[in-house]
Amino acid sequence: TATPQKFEFQAEIKQLLDIVIHSLYTEKEIFVRELVSNASDAIEKLRHLQITEKDNIADADRALEVNLTTDDTAKTLTISDAGLGMTRAELIENLGTIAHSGSKAFLKALSEGGQKNSNLIGQFGVGFYSAFMVAKTVKVYSRSWKKDEPAHVWTSDGSGSYEVEEVSDQERGTKIVIELKDDAHEFATEGRVKEILERYSAFVSFPVNLNGKHINTVQALWLRSKSEITDEEYTAFYKFQAHAYDEPRLRLHFSADAPLQINALLFVPKDNTEKFGMARLEPAVSLYCRKVLIDSKPKDLLPEWLRFMKGVVDSEDLPLNISRETMQDRALIEKLNKVITKRFIKFLSEEAKNRTDAYNEFYAEFGIFLKEGAALDYTHKDELVKLLRFESSLTEKGKTTSLADYVTRMGADQKEIYFLLGPSRAAIEAGPYLEGFKARNLEVLFCYESVDEYVMSNVREFDGKKLIAADHADVKLADAPKPPAAEGDLSEDDAKSLAEWLKTTLGDRVEEVKASDRLVDSPALAVNADKFMSPQMRRMMKAMNK
Ligand code: ADP
Ligand code: MG
Repeated sequence: TATPQKFEFQAEIKQLLDIVIHSLYTEKEIFVRELVSNASDAIEKLRHLQITEKDNIADADRALEVNLTTDDTAKTLTISDAGLGMTRAELIENLGTIAHSGSKAFLKALSEGGQKNSNLIGQFGVGFYSAFMVAKTVKVYSRSWKKDEPAHVWTSDGSGSYEVEEVSDQERGTKIVIELKDDAHEFATEGRVKEILERYSAFVSFPVNLNGKHINTVQALWLRSKSEITDEEYTAFYKFQAHAYDEPRLRLHFSADAPLQINALLFVPKDNTEKFGMARLEPAVSLYCRKVLIDSKPKDLLPEWLRFMKGVVDSEDLPLNISRETMQDRALIEKLNKVITKRFIKFLSEEAKNRTDAYNEFYAEFGIFLKEGAALDYTHKDELVKLLRFESSLTEKGKTTSLADYVTRMGADQKEIYFLLGPSRAAIEAGPYLEGFKARNLEVLFCYESVDEYVMSNVREFDGKKLIAADHADVKLADAPKPPAAEGDLSEDDAKSLAEWLKTTLGDRVEEVKASDRLVDSPALAVNADKFMSPQMRRMMKAMNK
């Protein structure tokens, strides 16, 4: 179309823009990082297309660079890249609708309320839209890598609508021109922008130029030797690569030569965002081959339960045009998956041993993923079960034990590992189920999370010992020494007739009433006779029916 066509932003984008524009977020400079990172993403995608689409790329000779120019007189900042560009439809889709996961998370957190809006921008980042913190208008000129696609300019002042119009003089890639607000003129000066770029662009794998002068030294951090890299560099890289705003909690930087050549730099973020009820995490460890990005969200590179990981895996053994469809490539990815997962589990075991506090803090946040793995990933189950931690009747509140440590405390007669499910330590301790175990000095693990029952029943055993719910009818404590008889205990016959009377009185509401050796202080307890459904599961089913 030759005449500009006007579009309304999607409602969510309007809401987002309204917040971004009116926020008092002080670190406005992050928009530079967002736009440079988009430019870098676009070039990485183009570089990959150069391999898969060799002869079909428009303006094939353009240098793969990011160029920034400041215009102090016109009060503009321009960021242009020779990346894959966008078609008209892609401009509308990518910049007019909320496809971007960071923005989605932002809005979700917003709707849950509580925090100051400006704070949230700092935590999540709002990608492209952050430009509207400083812009009167934003113009996005773009030409797709697909040959014979016309170029377009997308224009908006962020106030509810945008326009798209065909243009002629735009090469493959994208050029973003920001006309700055009066209070943001600093971003039209070379000195200020240079200072920002020096902080953020160190990890861009392509040359970044400001007013024609080269800014960054191109280097892939993961290929450098560990001893040369500072904590600050690692953290800055994590923030850049994972588009993150937090500090990483753990990091693992390693290389291997057999069975595959691998350089990997992996991070565990500070928080488990799934815990806040946010969207299920998607794979985010990027796959590279000799510094060329192959896939930023490879699905099968890591097992599902490691979806909280961030970072980079680079392997020289991969073909650049790797495809998920061919058997051979799939086998390679699978092999990578095995090596990395094994190495990461080993790393966690070392952490647990050598930096126990840090491990326990990690576990408190991300333990649920290890449980998922222990229950579902048969390849790694045995190793993962060793990493699980529980409070128990013998630990202090807030302190945990491993199954291995539990086993070392088991008496010679104890054959099984006991656990109890409950919402909290206090609730489990107040219930009648613990008494018989306490009286016999049998340790019971405490499980507070709703997945625990499922996890325990899938894990089934540890070190040859069955995991048994302490409230199950099958539990036989008779073998363990009985607590001494007390005065006033019912005789066996009296207990039997009391049980019969109870059964007659309660009728169908109970399956069976029996005298039991499991109680010490409480008069009675209900045990679960159902092989298929525990009280917890029944409660869950009931909740779902509502
Ligand atoms: P994200 O980068 O996390 O996807 P953004 O809000 O930063 O989210 O960008 C939204 C989308 O717009 C990107 O996913 C991309 O498809 C598109 N986009 C943004 N900048 C560019 C660019 N310079 N070149 C090509 N596409 C871009
Ligand atoms: Mg982005």
